[in-house]
Amino acid sequence: MISIKGLHKSYQMGSNSLHVLKGIDFEVKEGELVAIMGSSGSGKSTLLNIIGMLDNHDKGSYKLDDVLIKNLNETKAANYRNKFLGFVFQSFNLINYKSAHENVILPLYYQGIGRKKREVKAMKYLDDVGLKNWATHMPNELSGGQKQRVAIARAMVSEPKVLLADEPTGALDSKTSKEVMDLIQKINKSGKTILVVTHEEDIAQMCKRVVRLKDGVIVEDKKINQKKAL
Ligand code: ADP
Ligand code: MG
Repeated sequence: MISIKGLHKSYQMGSNSLHVLKGIDFEVKEGELVAIMGSSGSGKSTLLNIIGMLDNHDKGSYKLDDVLIKNLNETKAANYRNKFLGFVFQSFNLINYKSAHENVILPLYYQGIGRKKREVKAMKYLDDVGLKNWATHMPNELSGGQKQRVAIARAMVSEPKVLLADEPTGALDSKTSKEVMDLIQKINKSGKTILVVTHEEDIAQMCKRVVRLKDGVIVEDKKINQKKAL
């Protein structure tokens, strides 16, 4: 599903250059649930953003579903993003003046799907995350965990091949974090490939595999024994 070889990324700031990713080799197969770990500033978001086509890499190769991702113009990148990828962020990024239902409808609206069809489909995805009865509520009437579940429904409604979550539990207490991870596990069990960036060990332990970044390279890549973790 994802194949990355010898990937490098630097940020240019005036005459200074910050070399963040220094040769990443990383393969993800369909159906995996992978945690990307590392201390703050280790390049986790940079890697996820490159995988999500929100940012470009400098060197090396990146293939998503056998498509080489390189030098795509903004329109093409946006098309691939919509087709392949769903995003979940620490800060939920919901639209505050739209209801839970309308937030989930939005990606379908941009895809040009008819009104009735998008309303029904969005409601099904809200139901999948347990929020059918909260459909008409505005984000400021929802708890953090509920907001993140709306964001997950919004990411899933376009049926992406890969779900990318950057610190999805970063703004939640530990009980709510566990609930959100339970939902992510449930989505993964239905066959979805998922990458979760986190710096919390117990969140990583709820994934099937942990990849650790340090000083711009992967220093550890191991499977997790789910039985032991639970
Ligand atoms: P993490 O998500 O692991 O905390 P990031 O990938 O966000 O790390 O950042 C890695 C390093 O790159 C940090 O030192 C950060 O300050 C720097 N960085 C991230 N984004 C940019 C940017 N757009 N411009 C310049 N430097 C950046
Ligand atoms: Mg980050």
